[in-house]
Formats: sequence, C-alpha cells, structure tokens
Amino acid sequence: MSEQLTERFLSYVRINSASDPTSTASPSSSCQVDFLRILESELRKIGMEHIELDERGTLYAALPGEGSGNTVIGLIAHVDTSPDVSGKDVSPVLHSDWDGKAITLQSNIVIEPEETMDMIRYVGGTIITSDGTTLLGADDKAGVAIIMEICRCLIADTDIPRPPLKIAFTTDEEVGRGMDNFNTSTFGADFAYTVDGSVIGKVDTQTFNAWSAHWKVKGNEVHPGSAKGILVNSVRILAEIVTMISSEEMPENSSGMEGYDYPLSITSVTAVGELKMILRDFTREGMETRINRMRSIEKWIRIKYPRAEISLELTEQYQNPGEILLKDRRPVDYALKGMERAVNEGEEGSIRGGTDGSRLSFMGIPTVNLPTGGEFFHSRKEWIAEEGLEASFRIVLETLKIWGEI
Ligand SMILES: [Zn+2]
Repeated sequence: MSEQLTERFLSYVRINSASDPTSTASPSSSCQVDFLRILESELRKIGMEHIELDERGTLYAALPGEGSGNTVIGLIAHVDTSPDVSGKDVSPVLHSDWDGKAITLQSNIVIEPEETMDMIRYVGGTIITSDGTTLLGADDKAGVAIIMEICRCLIADTDIPRPPLKIAFTTDEEVGRGMDNFNTSTFGADFAYTVDGSVIGKVDTQTFNAWSAHWKVKGNEVHPGSAKGILVNSVRILAEIVTMISSEEMPENSSGMEGYDYPLSITSVTAVGELKMILRDFTREGMETRINRMRSIEKWIRIKYPRAEISLELTEQYQNPGEILLKDRRPVDYALKGMERAVNEGEEGSIRGGTDGSRLSFMGIPTVNLPTGGEFFHSRKEWIAEEGLEASFRIVLETLKIWGEI
C-alpha cells in the first residue's frame, strides 16, 4: 500500500501545475487542466463513477456507499502548486533511513529538523524533498495522491464500510480562487474534508478570516525645483500609511491565534500609486478592529493630505469556518475519532491561512481540513515523510469508515 501511495505521489509532483496570479483566465494556467485530464483518466481506470471534468477548473467523481451510513461525504484536494517558487521540473529526492540530522539540498538549501514542527517523528523513516531548486508540491499533491489511493482501495475492497463518497480536485487554491467555479450541487456532499493540512495529529477546524485592503493615491507632480506648495507625493503618503500600522501587527511578529496586517506591495511614482495589503484574524471582533483601523487611517490621511485623492477598497476573501462547524460537530468528532484509530492521537487545530474549505463551509458544505504530514509548503525546503503520507491515508480511511458504519 505504502509503496503505491508514494509512487503515485512522486509521479504527481513531477507534473508542473503551478497557478498564475497574473492571469485572469479560469483556471489561471493550462497546465492545471492538463493535470486534471491525467487524473480524470486515472479515475476512470480505478472505476469511479459520475466523473465530470469542468473545464473551468474542477474535476468531480462519486462512489456509492457500502454500509449503513448515508450521509454524503466529500474529499477535496487542490491540484495547483504555489506560484511563489518554481514547480517546474520537480526532481523529488528520497532520504531513506533518515538519521535525524539536517538535510542539505542543492543551492545550499538546508532543512534543519529543529526549525520544523514535527520532522523528528520520522527518524528512521523516509523524508521526501525536492532537489533544492524547486518546491516539492506536497501542497497539495499529497492530498491528491491520498484521495486517489483511498478511491482505489475502497473500490478494490468492498468489505470496508464507506459512506456515499464525492471527490473533487480543484484548481487555483493558491491564488485564492479555488472555489470561484465550484459547483456545490454537482459535488453534492453533506460535509467535506480537504486533505490539505500539515502536521499529523491535527484536525483543522479554524482558519483565518481574510480581507484585502487596496489603497490608491493620486498626487500631483511638478518639477521638484518649483514644488513648494504644489507637489503632492503619492510615494510619501503610501509610505506613511504603512508606518501608521504598529509593527506588532505585522505577520513577522504574530503567531498562534494572533492575526496580522500585511503590506504586500507598494507601486508608486509621485503622481499616482497603490498599496496592497491583506488583513487576517481568527475572530470576527479582531477583524472588525483591523478594518476599523484601516478606515481611521484613511480618515486621518485625508485630513493630512487634502489635495491628494485617496481611496481604500476593503474586500472580504474568506471566513473562518469555525462557527459553522460548531453547529454540527460530527465532521470534527468523526475525524478526531478516525485519527485516534489511525495514529493514536488527535486534537483540534487551526491554520494560519485559508483552505478551499473556508469558503466551501459558507457555501453550504461544512468542511474540515485533515493533515497530509508535510511542512514548509511554498518553499524549496518543503518536505513530507513517506510515513506521514501513509498516516494521512489511514486517517482519511478510518474517518470514512466511521461515516460508513453509522
Ligand atoms: Zn494547500
């Protein structure tokens, strides 16, 4: 089993499927559709039913239940990898019988076990990395490989109880558009699990609430030699907006359940400029404070620079599904129980980011995130252990068995 899962994972990471934030197409890159087509034909070979490839970016399939449970359960993984680091020509490296020491890759990339959350668990096991020139793509090809293997195993062994199952492979998760074209009625699950988490042992029930803040400033340009009383400098105004946010609120000074305000980019000349920011917080009240802070900065800066045109656009990106998951605890409780059965541990966790499930929960399908075992996503230090992949597979399987037995 473990070998087939690893083989499948290794074959997927070699396929380039990076999303592209600069594209307005859907999906944002054609390589994602190429990958979906490969998965589509594999699903047919495995024997999945109702396979449907929506060319705008989602591949759906289904499997009838085998057992007494009739709640429809969905499994979701995203096929794209982060555009932050190249995912082209990934050459995976297997570090078998790992001795617990730092792993050095090409380009002086060093993975220090003490910088990770959970690597030490895998001493004696097999750590999988890239060669150091690209990301690995465990985020989320681990999830894709696990779901494919789950489908294969459930079809091969009908003695395993399972609920009616729906699966979906999505695109553009990494550029925040994973749910833009998702069809909840085609999918048709009552509850879902994204297999897109990190450390084994954690069932993620909370994500950030997320907003973007887009500032635009129009100044007035004139030769600096004769600028007195005339020049209005957008560069200075935008810089001042950033400095009005306390450094305590920045991501580099935040951890755990703390949120942040993150200035992503400033592009500006004297006459015109813009500042893009993202705001993150686990609680509604915390997010309210962050939004109000942006509005008071806007007010203040308008008073200070009456001759500049200043605009602030605040847009909601996704919400923390935590409160939805409080209404019916079954998807959380069964995942915790499944994890207990599979790996003898399990606790609720949160991710300092979002998943497809953050939005899907608010589209009517409460969704919990399960771990893949990988770490350092979106970087050349990304790694996953063969034993972590295997553990994740068992967690998903045991969780489905519980739903199938009810
Ligand atoms: Zn992911």
